[in-house]
Amino acid sequence: MTRICENCEFVNQDDYDYCAKCGTPLVEGLEPKQIYVYNGARPQLNKKAIIIAYILTIVLSWGGFFWWLATKNTSINAFTFFGLFMPFYLIQAPIRELRKHGIILLFISLAGVALSFYVIMN
Ligand SMILES: [Zn+2]
Repeated sequence: MTRICENCEFVNQDDYDYCAKCGTPLVEGLEPKQIYVYNGARPQLNKKAIIIAYILTIVLSWGGFFWWLATKNTSINAFTFFGLFMPFYLIQAPIRELRKHGIILLFISLAGVALSFYVIMN
């Protein structure tokens, strides 16, 4: 069964909860995603939400390494793993531009996590 959008009549894959074209929820009871700003029929990326996603990911995935640089203490480095959650969420987004940010964030966070774990081992 495909999911046809009530707003723009775009035919979506049946596992989509939101219209891939306009972002309208396809399942009753779902709120429109906060990461999009509605501008007529076309969803625009919410730039503030993207910037917050970048800041959160960088702080989480690189925090352990910078903490180690400052203190030579690796006690919080294992928590940098949480920095991977936001990119993994974004690379599954229904909108291509959002997946692109997810891939960029994935590389940023993987580098930070790799460094954090490297300094634990050494
Ligand atoms: Zn739609």
